Amino acid sequence: MNDDGTMARVGQLGAYQQRHGLKACTIAQLIEYRRRSEKLVHREQSVAMPTAFGDFTCHLYGIDTDASHHLALTRGEIDPEYATLVRVHSECLTGDVFHSKRCDCGDQLAAALERIASEGGVLLYLRQEGRGIGLPAKIHAYKLQEQGLDTVEANEKLGFGSDLRDYGMGAQILCDLGVRRIRLLTNNPRKVIGLEGYGLEIVEQIPISIPANPHNAKYLETKRLRMGHLL
Ligand SMILES: [Zn+2]
Repeated sequence: MNDDGTMARVGQLGAYQQRHGLKACTIAQLIEYRRRSEKLVHREQSVAMPTAFGDFTCHLYGIDTDASHHLALTRGEIDPEYATLVRVHSECLTGDVFHSKRCDCGDQLAAALERIASEGGVLLYLRQEGRGIGLPAKIHAYKLQEQGLDTVEANEKLGFGSDLRDYGMGAQILCDLGVRRIRLLTNNPRKVIGLEGYGLEIVEQIPISIPANPHNAKYLETKRLRMGHLL
């Protein structure tokens, strides 16, 4: 604390640190460290989940730090020695439920479930809507896109980074399921980087190709040019 009892901030601590030879880190760094070094996920329940694509086991995972939940749909036995087919899918309510043609999420989800149903593997469904900005912000961003901005510009205008998704909890869930080596179904190289560093090895990146339609052609072009997706 400062002499007047208020909380000393980063900029005010330098002199104190130097005087006493102390090291410092930020709260953000502490969170980042705990995410990497502690197990913050727990399996709450596992149930049979027959679907239109085939029969899966559905695992409900709770996150200790924020009371949120994610789902993992698995098919077949998971062997740590064997490279497991994995799709990490971030929730997109409009795409997944209504098959909105503003994006390709619904088609990607269906393609992934179909493939995992036939080969075995894991579909991890992370409830981080709209690149992590949430459903209301995503709809507002759509409005900005109707006014001519692309996905990245629209998110930036609303004060969000282009991609706030956090794959750390996803990586911990995959570890808990016994997955160590992964054949990852994705077009997004950033997702590969996000999953590595948690004791997971990605041995193969398998693209999912979905044909563009007139409604999402611009969105897919933005993904390819501005976010480095391999489409
Ligand atoms: Zn979507």
